[in-house]
Amino acid sequence: MNTFSVKAFGTEAPEAALNQMQIDRREVTANDVEIDILYCGVCHSDLHTARNEWGGTIYPNVPGHEIVGKVSKIGTEVTKYKIGDLVGVGCLVDSCRTCDSCREGLEQYCENGNVQTYNGQDKHLHHQTFGGYSERIVVDQDFVLKIPSNLNLAGTAPLLCAGITTYSPLKHWKVGPGKKVGIVGIGGLGHMGVKIAKAMGAHTVVITTSASK
Ligand SMILES: [Zn+2]
Ligand SMILES: [Zn+2]
Repeated sequence: MNTFSVKAFGTEAPEAALNQMQIDRREVTANDVEIDILYCGVCHSDLHTARNEWGGTIYPNVPGHEIVGKVSKIGTEVTKYKIGDLVGVGCLVDSCRTCDSCREGLEQYCENGNVQTYNGQDKHLHHQTFGGYSERIVVDQDFVLKIPSNLNLAGTAPLLCAGITTYSPLKHWKVGPGKKVGIVGIGGLGHMGVKIAKAMGAHTVVITTSASK
C-alpha cells in the first residue's frame, strides 16, 4: 500500500516527552478522505495512553481524537465529502460494519473490535493507528463528520470526544426544560456537560469540591 510521511507529535516511551516525529499515512483508498488537520483537542485519554497508564500502549504513540480539519483529497468512491469541506474525526476510525452493533449504528460496540483513532490496529497498514497530533490524517468517509462553517473551529474540536461523551447521556435521558441535571466535577467533560445541559434548557447544578470553581 502506498503511504506518505507527515509530521506528528508523539511519544516513544511512557516517560518520554512529546516529540516531533514523522509517521506514515496511507494514500487515500476508494472510500477515504484525507484531512488537513487544523485543530486537535487535548483529551485526558491522550495523556493516559501516552504514559501507558491503562497499559497496552504501542510506541511510538501519537495521541489526539478531537480532530477538526479541511478535506484535502478524496478517494474515487467518496460521495459524502468534497475537497475543502470542514470535517471532524472523533475516537473511532473504523469497525467491521457487518455485526449487529455496527448495523445499529453503534460502531463503538463493534463485536469484532472497533478501530480507535490512536493506539488502535490499523486495518490497512497493520500497525498502530496515529491520532490527530499531526499534520494530516486519512479516514474512511463513514467515520468522518461534517462540521458547520459558522462554528469556532478551535472550540469545536473538544466536541468530538468530551462533547459527545456528555451529550449522549443527556440526550438518552431526554434532558430539557423542567429537568434538573447535576454535573459532578468541572473538568474537560464536566464543563461540556454544564454547557450542553444548560443549552438543552435543564436546571443545571454543578457539584465540585473546589470553591474557586
Ligand atoms: Zn477523549
Ligand atoms: Zn462491527
